[in-house]
Amino acid sequence: MIKLENVSKKFGKNNVLTSINLTFCKEEVVVICGPSGSGKSTLIKTINGLEPINGGAISYNGRNIDQIPATTLSKHVGMVFQDFGLFANKTVLDNLVVPQVVVHQVNRATAVEKAIEQLSALGMAAHKDKYPDQLSGGQKQRVAIARALVTKPEYVLFDEPTSALDPEMVGDVLSAIEKIVESGIGAVIVTHEMAFAKRISDRVIFMDAGRVVESSKSEDFFNEPKSQEQVCSCPR
Ligand code: ADP
Ligand code: MG
Repeated sequence: MIKLENVSKKFGKNNVLTSINLTFCKEEVVVICGPSGSGKSTLIKTINGLEPINGGAISYNGRNIDQIPATTLSKHVGMVFQDFGLFANKTVLDNLVVPQVVVHQVNRATAVEKAIEQLSALGMAAHKDKYPDQLSGGQKQRVAIARALVTKPEYVLFDEPTSALDPEMVGDVLSAIEKIVESGIGAVIVTHEMAFAKRISDRVIFMDAGRVVESSKSEDFFNEPKSQEQVCSCPR
């Protein structure tokens, strides 16, 4: 379980996250939505230790994130970014192999085997020797998802995984994510794709101005949102 207690985050004098109290359970699929600038990206970056917090506490299974070494943390949680974040100078295969070898000290042969298995699951094994700039946006994002999953984390965090894609690629990547979350991994997904959110989420969190203004079971969020505008203010 991931727990955030009274978390706050400032950039300079700007309070970007205020009094955030949330828990994310194992195998739970949570969608975060809310207007641009409301703190969604900052929130998920604090969860995997990419942004230090200014107040409160974040823990994994009761252990404070500050006490978890980065290599151990990356076994708990993987992340997928809007702009893919692939290593441009490495092949698709090495994008999955290098983190396993460097971060988790897996030997190369085992890492290659796991990488190909994970790429196959996302329909990308045939592209293993290509470089990222030889792939479409949708293909890049499927590689990024494969990379996030190859170390078998308990949770995966997605920050607007389809918002940099051409519209015809969006469905592809959403189906890949849907398949992954059905396999029982915990997921926290920042997205404006509300039909997708309705289909896959157990819970929806709505943020505004650095605060959680609603955290509801998915069926309640979509059937009786606290404010209709909240749902509609998500673009698209
Ligand atoms: P969202 O993902 O919901 O659009 P962000 O978490 O990216 O929101 O940003 C929340 C607020 O924090 C915004 O006002 C943004 O300008 C500010 N912010 C985000 N990252 C930084 C940063 N690295 N330095 C300064 N301000 C930042
Ligand atoms: Mg963002």
